[in-house]
Amino acid sequence: MNLSRREFSSVMAAALAAGFPLHADAATKASNLYNVPKTGNVHLLHMTDCHAQLLPSYFREPSVNLGVGAMRGQLPHLVGEQLLKAAHIKSGTPEAHAFTYLNFERAARQYGKVGGFAHLATLVKQLKAARPGALVLDGGDTWQGSGTALWTQGQDMVDACKLLGVNVMTGHWDFTYGEDRIRQIVEGDFAGKVEFVAQNVKTRDFGDAVFKPYVIKEMNGVQVAIVGQAFPYTPIANPSWLTPNWTFGIRESEMQETVNEARAKGAQAVVLLSHNGMDVDLKMASRVTGIDAILGGHTHDGVPVPVIVKNPGGQTIVTNAGSNGKFLAMLDLDVKGKSVVGFNYRLLPVFSNLLPADKDMNALIAKVRAPYSAKLTEKLATTEGTLYRRGNFNGTFDQLILDALMDVRGADIAFSPGFRWGTSLLPGQSITREHLMDQTAISYPWTTLTDIRGEMIKTILEDVGDNLFNPDPYYQQGGDMVRTGGLTYTCEPGARMGSRIQDMRLNGKLIEADKTYKVAGWAPVAEASKNAGPPVWDVVESYLKVKKVIKPVKPNTPQLVGVAGNPGLGG
Ligand SMILES: [Zn+2]
Repeated sequence: MNLSRREFSSVMAAALAAGFPLHADAATKASNLYNVPKTGNVHLLHMTDCHAQLLPSYFREPSVNLGVGAMRGQLPHLVGEQLLKAAHIKSGTPEAHAFTYLNFERAARQYGKVGGFAHLATLVKQLKAARPGALVLDGGDTWQGSGTALWTQGQDMVDACKLLGVNVMTGHWDFTYGEDRIRQIVEGDFAGKVEFVAQNVKTRDFGDAVFKPYVIKEMNGVQVAIVGQAFPYTPIANPSWLTPNWTFGIRESEMQETVNEARAKGAQAVVLLSHNGMDVDLKMASRVTGIDAILGGHTHDGVPVPVIVKNPGGQTIVTNAGSNGKFLAMLDLDVKGKSVVGFNYRLLPVFSNLLPADKDMNALIAKVRAPYSAKLTEKLATTEGTLYRRGNFNGTFDQLILDALMDVRGADIAFSPGFRWGTSLLPGQSITREHLMDQTAISYPWTTLTDIRGEMIKTILEDVGDNLFNPDPYYQQGGDMVRTGGLTYTCEPGARMGSRIQDMRLNGKLIEADKTYKVAGWAPVAEASKNAGPPVWDVVESYLKVKKVIKPVKPNTPQLVGVAGNPGLGG
């Protein structure tokens, strides 16, 4: 390819405008799925938000991912057929299953489980074999999300990532093991092997960098800078007492300075390994210059095609690589001088049936699981319906948690956080303790039972709604709406803060501002709520053991206002 940056960007814009498929082979047969010819001279493999899923699992993509304001109908806020259309993926293909919720149960049975580090390792090796010097980048949310990760304080994932050959990492949930544990891993396990980068994490006292802001690696004669961006709202979305001496934030101007510094030091290409979330990345790409590509995570959006964002310095490729080990992204850049003159991006679904397990990774996984085997595999109940979590407002597994909280803790209303991690189960599957931990394994798992005034309930819902639907992405924190048990309401995502939530009711009766209600919850971020009540997994486990069989669950979701026809709303 021999196009100037300007020609290249106009070609790309024209291709996108004309609706040409960026990759004509996107709908090829499964057998050809992983045969991706090498292009260019800089090769990056990117995984993100695996949430400690070492084994293959089922994972249902969301049927509700609303974009409001300028983001309405824009990637990543497309679901189902709308997403397939935008990415030129044919219905009924393995890719259509990987990227959407469509016919989830049937397609999941047909194509089998996704992810798993042993299968991921095979794919990484295969792509690397044709790509000398390729770097493996881990966007974070790696050490949290499973029983074994929690019980080993992330050690199982640290060892698995070293074996996978991760070169550079940034983080979010990883910080919830506390500052000492992070330092121990970064300065110990990772020393000389994995670089942990984050330009936006500083010490609270003097504002010094806690981690390297970026690293420069040489690949095939090209100097490539990898800049790190940890999740900006870590001490707000998660307990601040776990990282008391560190501050986070978007730090846009420092980002620009960091990119400039890397360029001044000779970087010919600059890539941002980001845990901002995709809307934040898109805004940042429009304002910060000199970044060739943003390999993004946090919002768990499996976005099959990159978004090209123009900015005063040129353009930036923005991507998001899904979650739970389900995808591996591959970016080939063709760098000439100080410019990227061509690229190829693929977000490859990891189908465990199509990729043989890597022997060494399999052995490591077996070893780390062995001490916990009996605990992990204990059957707690059987599910008759599909259990999943993803979606802006509720999922069936969240509803199960809400039902358990209300029942076991004796509450009228329950709140469950809008986490986007957690695997899915098909009808007829046993719910094991491992599955339960996949939904609940955090370092602040306590349940709470609180008398809350109606007025405060409204404030909480408005606040979380604004984190999700604020028209300015820099105020969005990722995650989904808090799930509510018992309480019904209407929600107008496009309304202003303070007027999105209306008509809150309990058992059909309007919630009264001055009346108090018994509300159960879990995952409190306040330090004062440490050990407030039994951990959520104990509460849900006792519920499951009494029920034995979980009938299909109908998630309690709000009545939505003003979103008819929104392409982020599935059928
Ligand atoms: Zn995540």
